[in-house]
Amino acid sequence: MEIDLTAFLRTHQQTRTEDVSFLVPAGPTQLGAQVRLAKPASVAVCLAGNRGMVRVEVSADLHLCCPCDRCLDEVRFEMPVAFTEEWRLGRAALDGRGRQHSGVHAQAWDAESDDDAEMVVRRTVCEQAADLDEAFWQNAGLALPLKVLCAENCRGLCQRCGTNLNRTVCMCSESPPDSRLSLLGRWRPDPHR
Ligand SMILES: [Zn+2]
Ligand SMILES: [Zn+2]
Repeated sequence: MEIDLTAFLRTHQQTRTEDVSFLVPAGPTQLGAQVRLAKPASVAVCLAGNRGMVRVEVSADLHLCCPCDRCLDEVRFEMPVAFTEEWRLGRAALDGRGRQHSGVHAQAWDAESDDDAEMVVRRTVCEQAADLDEAFWQNAGLALPLKVLCAENCRGLCQRCGTNLNRTVCMCSESPPDSRLSLLGRWRPDPHR
C-alpha cells in the first residue's frame, strides 16, 4: 500500500485531495498465524493537503476468520478498521532527495490526541512515497477483539476427551471430576485402628 506523494509535493497553497484504494488479497494477515482474511478487502485512503502536510484517512471492512477461542471451530466476523494520520512532508521529500535519504529519519512517529479525542498519528515523511502497510496492520491489531467466540454460549471442548460439546455430549460429564469426592469414594476404614 504505497502512497505516491509527488502530486502533493507540487501543490503549494491550495489543498489537493485524492482518493486511493488498495485491494488486500484473501489469505494470511499480519494479525497472527490464526487470523486470515476470508475475502479480499478494499482499503480506502482519502488524502488531503499540500506540500507541507497531508491528512490521511484510512478505512476498510475486513472479513476475517479465525478459530473459536473455546471450541476451535472456524469463526467468520467483520471488523472495521479506521484511522487517521497527518504526514508532515520533510525537506528531503521536497528536494527530491528522499530516495537516497530513506534511512533512520524516514519516519518519525509521534502520537497525539486531537481535541475530539480522536487519535491522530503524526509522522514526518521524508520520501516521495510512503507505505501504509505497517500502520494499517497495527491499527487492525488494535481493533481485533481479545476473544473470538463462535457463539456467546459456546460450550467449548471437553477438558478430558476433547469432544466438541456444541455438537455431542461425551460420557466424561457423568462422573464429576471433583477430586475430593473421588477420594471419599475410595476411602475405607483403616483395619488396624
Ligand atoms: Zn466455539
Ligand atoms: Zn469428554
